[in-house]
Amino acid sequence: MKINIVGGGPAGLYFAILMKKSNPANEITVYERNGPDDTFGWGVVFSGRTLETLRQADAESHAEITGQFEAWDNVDVVKDDEKISVRGNSFTGISRLRLLKILQHRAEQLGVAVLFRSEITDIESLRADCHLMVGADGINSTVRQRFADRFEPNLSVRSNKYIWYGTNQLFHGLTLTFRVSDAGIFSAHSYKFNQTTSTFIVECDQLTWQRGGFEELNDVETRSYLQQVFKSDLQGRPLLSNNSKWINFVLVKNSQWAFENTVLIGDALHTAHFSIGSGTKLAMEDAIALANSFQRHDDTLDALYEFESSRKPYIEEYQAAALESMLWFENVRQYSHLSPIELAYSLMMRSGRVNHADLKKRDPQFVSRYEAAAS
Ligand SMILES: Cc1cc2nc3c(=O)[nH]c(=O)nc-3n(C[C@H](O)[C@H](O)[C@H](O)COP(=O)(O)OP(=O)(O)OC[C@H]3O[C@@H](n4cnc5c(N)ncnc54)[C@H](O)[C@@H]3O)c2cc1C
Repeated sequence: MKINIVGGGPAGLYFAILMKKSNPANEITVYERNGPDDTFGWGVVFSGRTLETLRQADAESHAEITGQFEAWDNVDVVKDDEKISVRGNSFTGISRLRLLKILQHRAEQLGVAVLFRSEITDIESLRADCHLMVGADGINSTVRQRFADRFEPNLSVRSNKYIWYGTNQLFHGLTLTFRVSDAGIFSAHSYKFNQTTSTFIVECDQLTWQRGGFEELNDVETRSYLQQVFKSDLQGRPLLSNNSKWINFVLVKNSQWAFENTVLIGDALHTAHFSIGSGTKLAMEDAIALANSFQRHDDTLDALYEFESSRKPYIEEYQAAALESMLWFENVRQYSHLSPIELAYSLMMRSGRVNHADLKKRDPQFVSRYEAAAS
């Protein structure tokens, strides 16, 4: 089978690996516009359960990934200089670049052709020249745009602004920090992803962003402003930029996931707000689901049909939970009167995926403290 994949992110590379593994005769090419060492962002997170899924799909890359990651089980909520830790939330962090290097190496080792610095603009020719074309080209997918009449995408640009930084201040656990400044409330989502670096994403609403005057500030000025806001959390350490820019989150959905020999996976197909840290997980699980469908069906249309019909309900449920989480952060002002323990409780319950009993099982001490405060 000849497979052309547009995009060498986690979704495209992982799908290439799994399809080459399942049949070495598959002729697979990944077209990636960036070089092998270019990336955006800093670290990504996986839950314990996701890692087990990755182990079952490809033990070799799983071993490499788990050899490089940082693990924790606490969510820390910081408000008014008080830190509330909630245990029982198993997560791991790894640098996005490290993850991509592992997947690139594994794909090449198996015989996948990964063509870097190959930006695809002529989608039709690529599509005509293969049995299967995969659009794994991320949130601004060219494949999705070119065939918008077939995929029927629905893009919702959200109002909050966010910016993705790194820092050498280490946050041991997923740390959600809330700071009030003259401009408004800033939330930070941070976690350590290697021995020396943490991801540090700052988010605020439109009004706070305007009052902060960020439109007029350059990179150095923006970092200096935010370093001041999060001074005690960063303990004087600088925010590190990686061409970091303020962006609005875009919620992506597609009515149709595939047609003829063409399918979307990963961020090209769907997004879930970064506050539930699952974009990379979903992208790699798409790759697994699609590869599994091809294990069960020789016919491309049958495989694509199964992929869409079996995975869509799961993704819809995930996006619904991520939406609740995103709305919580978009409406953070309405929670600002809560005490730190109440805020932590509200945060843990925000996506609707965890209820009071689950939380009690995860961290009985935290729930007792909350119950005492709330009574
Ligand atoms: C602020 C922020 C924080 C995040 N935090 C997390 C997190 O903690 N955990 C997590 O799991 N996920 C996180 N994510 C999401 C994660 O980055 C994505 O969901 C994930 O990378 C999706 O993988 P993908 O392979 O579908 O797309 P991408 O990683 O975007 O890869 C797409 C690739 O396609 C290439 N490409 C695009 N167009 C073309 C073209 N025309 N020709 C050739 N190549 C092309 C791009 O260069 C890119 O390499 C976060 C995202 C953001 C924005």
